[in-house]
Amino acid sequence: CGIVGYIGHRDAYPIIIKGLQRLEYRGYDSAGVAIYDGATINLCKTKGKVEDLKKKAEATMSLEGKLGIGHTRWATHGVPNDANSHPHYSNSGDLVIIHNGIIENYDSIKKELINRGYVFHSDTDTEVLINLIEEVKKKENVKLGKAVQIALNQVVGAYAIAVFDKHKPDEIVVAKLGSPLAIGIGEDEFFIASDATPFIEFTNNAMYLDDEEMAIIRLGKEIKLRKIKDDAVV
Ligand code: GLU
Repeated sequence: CGIVGYIGHRDAYPIIIKGLQRLEYRGYDSAGVAIYDGATINLCKTKGKVEDLKKKAEATMSLEGKLGIGHTRWATHGVPNDANSHPHYSNSGDLVIIHNGIIENYDSIKKELINRGYVFHSDTDTEVLINLIEEVKKKENVKLGKAVQIALNQVVGAYAIAVFDKHKPDEIVVAKLGSPLAIGIGEDEFFIASDATPFIEFTNNAMYLDDEEMAIIRLGKEIKLRKIKDDAVV
């Protein structure tokens, strides 16, 4: 399983697809990609190989956009099928997530969210996490980074995640506990991946998140690093 992300001045799609291919050695059963052009999020996912994803995406959606995230899934919660593949939207359609790992207490959180009116389109633990982030963001009226931080303090499990918000076309929030997460820093561009191989050709300036660390990656800004357990305002 693997994750890849890009935000910058290049087209994200080719970087994401190539990156997913480089991460294939990690093993997976499905793959998906979301590309954001600042107006529309285009999302494609499928059970099968990255090559299948590539064919499907290129036949069905616009590939334009300078922000993108991609995922290869090794199913833990929910069978390998198109619906359970990542990325996953939140209920509003504003937030998008990719996740490697497991949210162990997803069941109790899911029940609470269903009580609050949330609807689920997959059997994954990941879709629970993105809706928890959405619920926290609304309820606490906080920015995406803070919402991710608060939500992660409520979950038990392991993760490497990347999340973006339709209302923030210049930002990706990432966090890590257990699964690996590397960030490549270029000139006015950032790369995210499970290891550095997807971005090694673009930059040799890489940093690796520690466990229980998160980063708010914003174009034109320094990366903001946070300890997930800290209660500092993001
Ligand atoms: N637990 C998540 C799922 O089953 C992510 C699995 C993975 O690491 O790819 O969808």
